[in-house]
Amino acid sequence: MSQGTSQKKPGPLGMWNAIPLWQKILAGLVLGLIVGLVFGKSAAAVKPIGTAFISGIKMLIVPLVFVSLVSGVTSMRDPAKMGRVGIKTIVLYLLTTAVAITIGLALGTVMAPGAGVDMGAAKAVAPKAAPSLVDTFVALIPTNPIEAMSKGNVLQVIFFAILFGLAINMSGKPGEKVRDAFNALAEVIYKLTAIVIWFAPFGVFALMAWTAGTYGLDLLLPLAMVIVAVYLGCILHALLVYGLAIRAVGLNPLKFYKGIAEAATVAFTTTSSSGTLPVTMSCAQKNLGISQGVSGFVLPLGATVNMDGTALYQGVCALFVAQVFGVHLSGGDYVTIILTATLASIGTAGVPGAGLIMLSLVLSSVGLPLEGVAIIAGIDRVLDMARTSLNVVGDGMVATLVAKSEGELDLAVFNSGRDALGELEEA
Ligand code: ASP
Repeated sequence: MSQGTSQKKPGPLGMWNAIPLWQKILAGLVLGLIVGLVFGKSAAAVKPIGTAFISGIKMLIVPLVFVSLVSGVTSMRDPAKMGRVGIKTIVLYLLTTAVAITIGLALGTVMAPGAGVDMGAAKAVAPKAAPSLVDTFVALIPTNPIEAMSKGNVLQVIFFAILFGLAINMSGKPGEKVRDAFNALAEVIYKLTAIVIWFAPFGVFALMAWTAGTYGLDLLLPLAMVIVAVYLGCILHALLVYGLAIRAVGLNPLKFYKGIAEAATVAFTTTSSSGTLPVTMSCAQKNLGISQGVSGFVLPLGATVNMDGTALYQGVCALFVAQVFGVHLSGGDYVTIILTATLASIGTAGVPGAGLIMLSLVLSSVGLPLEGVAIIAGIDRVLDMARTSLNVVGDGMVATLVAKSEGELDLAVFNSGRDALGELEEA
């Protein structure tokens, strides 16, 4: 502050912007919960604000994934490094997912959420068939990249973006011009993301009010034990597994949780990890100091294939259904559930309710009655909130680990506890 200049008092907007984003989002969440519980179903009146926010962040997904991945690949010139990042990412994703489902099974066994629950008039649900691995790989290649973008097929967009980035690297001088253009474009898209994220507290408030108003306590109480088991499992997984992993690479877990908090809250209310992706990327780069190259690759992939929360939920729900219908599961059944739920969570799209559809796959793999899906369906949104948050925090954790091990993590940013809106407010 220079002396002699009169200091202007900040207006209401300046005061609002001075509050850290995560505090505003958290306040939106709590206020939304109160409004929803007080006003019940009529709280749905504010839902359009939430829908507008979701549309705003969804609008960013394709341009953000494409542009940041292309510019990320062009900044990682060494193909061996890209290969290493890919392998580390996949191994960490699979490992954490398998641990998550084991926690889910352990909690499902210890807490027995299905004991004493009346199966009522639940109807059977048609099982979902698992796609073959070969088909899944072939489907990664878009026949038309523009169509892949217009349909929002993130895996195909990732595939095209990586090839496009590699081609830029191989094109010499003309490629350099394109690379510079993409770097500039990436900056513009990040700014656009910051503009949309500015609205997050309002969107989170509206979505929370609507959810709490729609799912009153009456609906939730009979299945309270399932809800408690899933929430407890998600919290344990986030604290123990992620906390220890972050600590193991010499970083402070508290800084990690703070840095990823905005994405976790947005995931909690939107129940879509794909939809939350722009917020997750912004947290990773601006709060956690993860490079564009690593976050541009690890996070979009994670939003579609890494679902620790979904896997954990499937473990709890499989045991819940077994208990409700009095089916005894053998040791082999547990192993089958771990394998199927890991694969099912990879095949689950990062959209609301997708995990419930995949639950039928897990149940049918060990011959559990599919009526179980119908029982869970009544409260699935509430479970989806917790599992989607964990899905997103898990993506952020893996991105942090990979970045740290590759020297792609800016420690000064990670340790500074910066806010994702910092840049927007500085502008
Ligand atoms: N809603 C979850 C997600 O987007 C997927 C699920 O339903 O489990 O991550």
